[in-house]
Amino acid sequence: MGETPVTVWESVMSDLRTQVPSTSYEAWLSDIEPLEVSEGSLVIGVPDSFKKGGIERRYRTTIEEIASSVCRRPLALEVRVVGSENEAPAPALVHDELAASASQGALPLNPDYTFASFVRGENNRLAVAASEATGDAVARRLKKPYNPLFIYGSVGLGKTHLLQAIGNFVSSADRDCTVVYTTSERFAIELINGIRGNATAAFREKYRQVDLLLIDDVHFLKGKEATQEELFHTFNDLHGNKKQIVLSSDRPPEDLSGLQERLVSRFKWGLEADIQPPNFETRMAILREKAIARGIDVDNDILELIARRISSNVRALEGALVKAIAYAELQGEKLTPKNLEGILPKEGRRAKLTIAHIKDEISTRYQLPRSELEGASRKKEISQARQIAIYLARELTEHSFPAIGREFGDRDHTTIMHSYSKIKELLTDTPLLYAEILEIQETLESRYSLLR
Ligand code: ADP
Ligand code: MG
Repeated sequence: MGETPVTVWESVMSDLRTQVPSTSYEAWLSDIEPLEVSEGSLVIGVPDSFKKGGIERRYRTTIEEIASSVCRRPLALEVRVVGSENEAPAPALVHDELAASASQGALPLNPDYTFASFVRGENNRLAVAASEATGDAVARRLKKPYNPLFIYGSVGLGKTHLLQAIGNFVSSADRDCTVVYTTSERFAIELINGIRGNATAAFREKYRQVDLLLIDDVHFLKGKEATQEELFHTFNDLHGNKKQIVLSSDRPPEDLSGLQERLVSRFKWGLEADIQPPNFETRMAILREKAIARGIDVDNDILELIARRISSNVRALEGALVKAIAYAELQGEKLTPKNLEGILPKEGRRAKLTIAHIKDEISTRYQLPRSELEGASRKKEISQARQIAIYLARELTEHSFPAIGREFGDRDHTTIMHSYSKIKELLTDTPLLYAEILEIQETLESRYSLLR
């Protein structure tokens, strides 16, 4: 197979998946249709102009960079609306888009995330066994062996896959079971929307009627007091009614700083199961499983090279395989260990997050030069972007207000404190901004290490 839009796009997608947080990926990028790849451009199709605007604003640079590196020539991105709708103007504000894209209800389960497609190894034995036992108990309405089941491990090791596997298993075994899968961010946004629309009662009602509640990434509850409060009551009701709760986190409960003690203590009531990075044999087994799932035959020495090179993140492992396959197809060459060398990412330690990284992220996202963030402009978009950057610098790094001031055009620490509290206040009654900031935070957390 030569260079078709589909093969190019597959390869671009696999890189995008590793760079874009999964909630944003689902919201923005999952339904893109590759249309055409020519000498100088990559054309993609999206269902409506709303998505077109959002993708152009947020992901143009990233997509162009990845596509150009895949095809080894500069490619400009062109986004076309291929749905029936093509007139509606794109909303002006980034957070309006986000809110509109985030459906209110629970998130759908990905049907590919099953127990059958999950490769077992020494690294995840307990977590898989506990997940299966839990799914079985819920579906057969037996006494729950562990409640809650708390699964933890670092990014890309299969937490979401396992949570959804439990959900998929239970939904297919017993259609009468109410299964809700959500993330802690989504839970928080729904709650805030509920409060604003005076629909808190409906929100509570919904969550208290489930038989199985799966909440992904509870470490993002840090500092979200109202959400923790609500989850605490939901937890008590469900637990008291012998309904199952499964949680995931990037660290064990005792390390969840910024969460209420009483909530953390409940997280420890059941079983804590960790997932570690897979060893070499397990990485090989995962690569074989992924190759088979794609119906592709890849030589063992190629799989071995990938498995040796990438060790700490299964998503990256999968990404490297897809990239290797696409490369071979695009170049019309057989994959050899030698040409594979050049395309595999070098796995290094993630850099520690700095204020400069935050400024870069904000400047790309809002399409403002970095100098504007440091400068004196009072234009609304600029000053709000600046305030968000300052807020994040305070929340995500260890710098003091005076130190942050020095990084933002030598501003006085009182100005910095003011910006910080301004955003903090706005967050409590602006769900859209809240969602936006959570997303930026998630992006930064997935790219850098936050030693707080
Ligand atoms: P996390 O939620 O821990 O960040 P995910 O569940 O999203 O990680 O997993 C990342 C990717 O790696 C998914 O595509 C998932 O299917 C895959 N994956 C992780 N662990 C395994 C495994 N043991 N077997 C098969 N696929 C796995
Ligand atoms: Mg996950």
